[in-house]
Amino acid sequence: MHVVVVGGGFGGVKAALELSKKQIGKITLISDESYFLHHATLYATATGKSFAESVIPLKIIFAEHPNVEIVQDKITSFDPKRHLIAGKKDYHYDKLILALGSVTTYFGIEGMKEHSYGMKSLDQIKNFHEHIHDELVHQQLDKDYFIIGAGSSGVEMAAALNDYLKQLKAIYRLKQTASKVTLVEAAPTILPHLSKTASTKISQQLKKQGVKVLTNHKVGALEDDKIIIDGKPYATTTAIWTSGVTNNPFFKHNAENFHLAQDGRVNVNPYLEALADVYVIGDNNTVKYSGTAWPTLKQATHVANNITRLATKRPQRRFAPTSAPVGIPVGSHWGYAEWFGVYVSGRTGTYARRLMELYGYCQLLPFRQAVPVWRAHELAAVEE
Ligand SMILES: Cc1cc2nc3c(=O)[nH]c(=O)nc-3n(C[C@H](O)[C@H](O)[C@H](O)COP(=O)(O)OP(=O)(O)OC[C@H]3O[C@@H](n4cnc5c(N)ncnc54)[C@H](O)[C@@H]3O)c2cc1C
Repeated sequence: MHVVVVGGGFGGVKAALELSKKQIGKITLISDESYFLHHATLYATATGKSFAESVIPLKIIFAEHPNVEIVQDKITSFDPKRHLIAGKKDYHYDKLILALGSVTTYFGIEGMKEHSYGMKSLDQIKNFHEHIHDELVHQQLDKDYFIIGAGSSGVEMAAALNDYLKQLKAIYRLKQTASKVTLVEAAPTILPHLSKTASTKISQQLKKQGVKVLTNHKVGALEDDKIIIDGKPYATTTAIWTSGVTNNPFFKHNAENFHLAQDGRVNVNPYLEALADVYVIGDNNTVKYSGTAWPTLKQATHVANNITRLATKRPQRRFAPTSAPVGIPVGSHWGYAEWFGVYVSGRTGTYARRLMELYGYCQLLPFRQAVPVWRAHELAAVEE
């Protein structure tokens, strides 16, 4: 059997690793990048910490899995009748797993795509580094830094950037600069997808750390030197967009083959199949709780098990979605973690979140390799 897995993120990598362990045949992992990107730590990499915790070469992950062939290609089209998927080349599959992740959307806000910094790709993080570097070379940090969108990524980034700016000011003795980080959210509360306790406690903590929180405020446009919020201009050259995600455009381009929900994600059956021999997992599907790493890992393992069952003439098992813990670092020494309505905050919250990250790395790498990658978080950190 030849299983083709598309996507080198949590879903694709975990599925390929599990299939490799089962020795069910040939596995090809196709991804448009040569590395796995650990989105959850990009806020840290963007604010002075090591790239090692966020960017892991696929060749390192699969070093002990010679039965997985890694191919770098961007998949654009699909012919399910002929069991073919295509990018620069055609790839024939017996079973196909699609885990392409989501992409950024700017909700049509004027100038946002052109002028904002982002946190979803390696290039975006590098651009942001370059921008901060340019500011430092000219000894002139911005007066106001804006983070747009107070979901988990926006909150993490706002607190981390606030810390980072303080560190840079101390290192380079930029005494004259009074930089401020403002988190802007159109909804009435920050973290609208989490509990009220999470929203209240984290909002208080952000303010305590010096981050300005603007809820019920809508960003109307972004220019190269100003942002328009509720019709009023504010001078800035640094606005970071963390707000919108939408499904990978591959599915819309091949919509005739999928049953798409209104938000563009793919409807799948209880075995996570979108059509015969084609599984769609992780951020791409409409399964309950999809959209974070933990459910993606569970789905990837489940699909790998089901493909193994089919290979040995056993029936597939239905996937049962389960909720995932949430952990949010708010600065280096305060975090919030919540699961099944139970929460911890403060230092304990930081430790809980760090343990969640270790769990994630251990899903991709042997423990002895996962620990140094996890500990890379401490590299380049500046002591208070
Ligand atoms: C900034 C940010 C912070 C986050 N923080 C957290 C967090 O703290 N905790 C948490 O649980 N989740 C977090 N998430 C969500 C989590 O990262 C995703 O839910 C998870 O990565 C989904 O896994 P996936 O495999 O579906 O997609 P991804 O991990 O996004 O992987 C998709 C892969 O497909 C590849 N690809 C895309 N298109 C193509 C193509 N056409 N051809 C070939 N390859 C392609 C991509 O390069 C990538 O390797 C965060 C996400 C972001 C963006």
